[in-house]
Parts: sequence; C-alpha cells; structure tokens
Amino acid sequence: MDSLVTQFEEARRQALESLRQAEDRQAVENVRIHYLGRKGVVPNLFREMGKVSPEERPLVGKTANQTKNEIQAAVDEAFNRLAEKEEPDAGVDVTMPARRHPLGTKHPISQVMDDAVDIFRRMGFIVADGPDLETEYHNFDALNTPADHPSRDVQDTFYLPDGRLLRTQTSPVQIRVMEQQPPPVRIVCPGRCFRRDTPDATHSMNFHQIEGLYVDRQVSLADLKAALTMFAHELLGEDVKVRFRPHFFPFTEPSLEYDFSCIMCGGRGCRVCKNSGWLEISGAGMVDPAVFQAVGYDSEEWSGYAFGMGVERIAMIRYAVSDIRLLYENDLRFLKQF
Ligand SMILES: [Zn+2]
Repeated sequence: MDSLVTQFEEARRQALESLRQAEDRQAVENVRIHYLGRKGVVPNLFREMGKVSPEERPLVGKTANQTKNEIQAAVDEAFNRLAEKEEPDAGVDVTMPARRHPLGTKHPISQVMDDAVDIFRRMGFIVADGPDLETEYHNFDALNTPADHPSRDVQDTFYLPDGRLLRTQTSPVQIRVMEQQPPPVRIVCPGRCFRRDTPDATHSMNFHQIEGLYVDRQVSLADLKAALTMFAHELLGEDVKVRFRPHFFPFTEPSLEYDFSCIMCGGRGCRVCKNSGWLEISGAGMVDPAVFQAVGYDSEEWSGYAFGMGVERIAMIRYAVSDIRLLYENDLRFLKQF
C-alpha cells in the first residue's frame, strides 16, 4: 500500500484535475463533496493518520493540511470562475463600452450674446438688466418718442390691457439705470424684445438686442466708432471694417446706422451682402439732450453715446444662417452644428 503522503498527493492531483474539467457549479459541488465532504476522500485519509509512526507524523500532517487547503482553494476558484460565466450581470464589467450621454451645446443666440457681453466687459462696460414688461414712459416717453410717433402704434407694439407693453427695445433699461445713478455710466443691456412683426426670413415677433450706453464728460462720436470697431474685430475678426451712415432716431442726435464689412466676401460683394460689400448691423448715436433731461442729467456737463444691435442678425451673419426662423424651431439637427 502506498504511503499516506503519496495517497494525499494523489487525492490532490485527482481533485484539481476534476475541478479543471468541471463545467458547471453542480459539478464543482460534487467534486467538493467527494474529496472534502464529511465522508470524503481527504477526511478518510485524515483518519488513517492515527496509524502513522511518530517519526513520519510531521511530514504526513503537513501534506494532509496542504492537500485540504489546496483543494478548498481550487473549489472556491472554480465557483468564482463559473459564477462569472453563468451570470454576466452579476458584476461590473469594466471592459464594456461606456454609455454616451449626449452633450448639449449653447444656442447660437446665447453664444453671440455671451461673446458680445464678454467683449464689452473687457472694455469696461457692466451688464444691466430690466423688465420685459415695460411702461409706456420708459419704453417711449423718456426716450424722446412722443405719443404720436408711429412706433407707438398698436400695429407695432404688444400692449397689455393695463397700459403696459412688451418692450420693443432694450433702451428702457438705459433710462432705468440713469434714473438710479449719477454719471458716469457705462453699461450694456442684453435682452429680449417684442414687436408685432409678421414672421419671415428676417423678422420675428420676439428677438434679442444688446444695447450699450456710455455717459461721461466729453464723449464723442470718435469714441463710439472706436468701441464698435473694437467690438467688430473681437467678434468677427481683425479685417472687419465699420461704416457709419446718417440716420434718424428720436433718442439720439446725431443718429446713425452702422455697417460691418461683409465677412463672407471680405467686402468684394456677394449674395449675402447683396453685392454691397456691407452688412447692416443696427443704429447708434449721441444721446439726445432731451433724454438726459428726462433722467435729470445736465446735458451741458455730460455727453454720451448709445448703440444697439440685433443679436439674431449677428448670429445669422456669424454662422451664415439664411432664415431667422431656424433659430427658433429648436430642431436639434440644426442646433447641434454650433
Ligand atoms: Zn458679401
């Protein structure tokens, strides 16, 4: 009969071989019972150890314990291996591809507003805000726009039953700021405006403006042109030129409209600029003394310029969008491009 040491080693060899071949957990459990169960091979061999001579006992005892521990470890390992195979959901598989969460983008109107406000802030302007629902006084009267002015027609303005209105421009914010603080003033007012326009490729009933106001001593038209030129360079590139044309607004004197040279064709003329080489941006001018009077500023001591710009107009130029309605349809295929 083989020595006990040999029998333990043979039992270990067979057990490990059976575990390697086990294809499900029941097979592993059967191996475990056969070798380690109460009446299994290994416990039976342990019982034989009483017959071993005292000299052999240390070696046999060591081999017996190693055998039992190694088979137990191999059983545990086999269970783990089969558990992963049978229940793929049981654990986290770090090799799985990650789930993608679609990232949104800023709306082109917000991008232009944020970029424009950033540029003016670097020039020392601070942001001022005002209500969308305005009084006739702030929207018209204080801006030197008398009651018989055509822009006050109900055809052009949304009036509420209580006489208030949806502001048609961001200029009333300038009035509110000047009412509250003495000069100097240097503000930009980004915001939403409303007019009773029939929607088409270039008109919308609600739109956004950014308006600027600078009041100080000895402010001139040259300062206005410098500010708008710097703005155009920062927003659209160093090559953009700014052009002033005489115009009329009730709240500025002199008034002007300003154009940027066409960024599509570099001023040579194209479809976008209707072959003029220029893109109309908006209006500006030196603040009318009547406006200063309405807010209690001394027009002998103080002068200032104001300018406005349509955010949609600039977004359409910057991103070459041909129809303003695209900006409001919330079509993700369109918005994802920005
Ligand atoms: Zn052009």
